[in-house]
Amino acid sequence: MNSKSINIWDDACKQLRGILSSDIYDRWIAVIQCLEISGSNMRLAVANDFYKDWLEENYFPMIRKAVMVVSGQEMEISLTVDSSCFDTPKEEPEPHAPISLPTLGRGKKPAHNLNKNYTFDSFVVGPSNQFAHAAAMAAASSPSRTYNPLFIYGGVGLGKTHLMQAIGNHVAAKKPRAKICYINCETFTNEYIDALQNNSVSAFRKKYRKIDMLMIDDIQFLDGKARLQEEFFHTFNSLFESHKQIVLTSDRTPSEMAGLAPRLISRFEWGLITELGKPDVETRTAILRKKAELLNLHVDHDLIDYLAERISSNIRSLEGALIRVATYISLTNQHVDVAKVEELLHDLLDKESKATINVETIQRTVAEHFDLRHSDILGKKRSRDIAWPRQIAMHLSRTMTSQSFPVIGEAFSRNHATILYANEQVATKAKEDRALQQTLAILKDKVNKNCAKAVQ
Ligand code: ADP
Ligand code: MG
Repeated sequence: MNSKSINIWDDACKQLRGILSSDIYDRWIAVIQCLEISGSNMRLAVANDFYKDWLEENYFPMIRKAVMVVSGQEMEISLTVDSSCFDTPKEEPEPHAPISLPTLGRGKKPAHNLNKNYTFDSFVVGPSNQFAHAAAMAAASSPSRTYNPLFIYGGVGLGKTHLMQAIGNHVAAKKPRAKICYINCETFTNEYIDALQNNSVSAFRKKYRKIDMLMIDDIQFLDGKARLQEEFFHTFNSLFESHKQIVLTSDRTPSEMAGLAPRLISRFEWGLITELGKPDVETRTAILRKKAELLNLHVDHDLIDYLAERISSNIRSLEGALIRVATYISLTNQHVDVAKVEELLHDLLDKESKATINVETIQRTVAEHFDLRHSDILGKKRSRDIAWPRQIAMHLSRTMTSQSFPVIGEAFSRNHATILYANEQVATKAKEDRALQQTLAILKDKVNKNCAKAVQ
């Protein structure tokens, strides 16, 4: 098996390890061997019928989901009994195996490699993502005519991949013959490196320049890779000039990528840059309800509300928590109360409180950065050298936490309208002002570090 195949199974195992208790993981998942991955088929093996039956009855949907999450596509997974392979040592991955992407647009197979569950229908819209969602819908409805490129950025697990693929799925449903390419930037990079090694760069170029829609996920991977950026620049131009839609996602804005060539930054800014923020508690609850419905999980509403309340940093963790609770309920058939959920999820909840960024740390970090006192940020002085850092602190409080305007207002002893105004002021200025963008990036970094320090 090649290294990419090994990675898919290993990565799926990592996902499952995060979802299941270590006991269950060791007993049921660690015993599985991945025999083969070819195209979208995966062959797994266990040592006897008992394991096979139990896994099929209890964990198969979860395994399938984990594989889908890491591979970005629905895979046909078969589980066989093969006692012989459990005596032999594991095959070593081939270090230089070429990485092959799904072939684009041939025969009757769909001309894309999208996860069909990531659609607009399954995407819950709330205040934190409504602009990004509207922009994605516009790009999907009239590709290359509205926002090109569409650049979606936001933190981990906030729905970038989902939204991007929803665009692809929408276009694919309307135009089944369209050549749609979804690819993670890391895979794109590996493929380019392979092409360089095998003297097949021209084939690589041809492949990417004849597609109808290019979606590159996690483009921040280009940061600091000059040669790859050069290659991508030409691909970008060629597609753009032929009016093909380009969609990119990233964990930061183009100007926050210090190692990105200015001409690429400016290309990325040609279209629309839109942020996916952290969802508020109502949106989190709605997302969880939708997930429970889609995955057919039976979890009481009050537990769902509790999870949505407690886990706010990212939706992937929230989903993992839901699956873990649902698995426990279905395996034990026991009533689960909040105390039990806390016990089941203690590691996740711990991590969550660490990840939680608080307004006070933001205020203190900003004060320190501008050589002010914390009391200046909270005070009433209106001179610009104090009022501006104060507005920056308000903006960061809004963008870095999932708190509402009134809650942030309270933390600054102001009303919510003041916070709203400050947030918009800073956001508008930052669009044009590179120096401010950099200051904000530095401050975010410091806040993250200070918050992490505070909980150690
Ligand atoms: P990212 O790419 O930003 O790290 P993903 O797109 O992989 O995040 O999202 C993580 C998980 O959260 C996925 O299972 C996705 O379906 C789910 N998710 C994120 N946002 C939403 C949303 N608004 N509605 C429904 N599910 C969502
Ligand atoms: Mg992603």
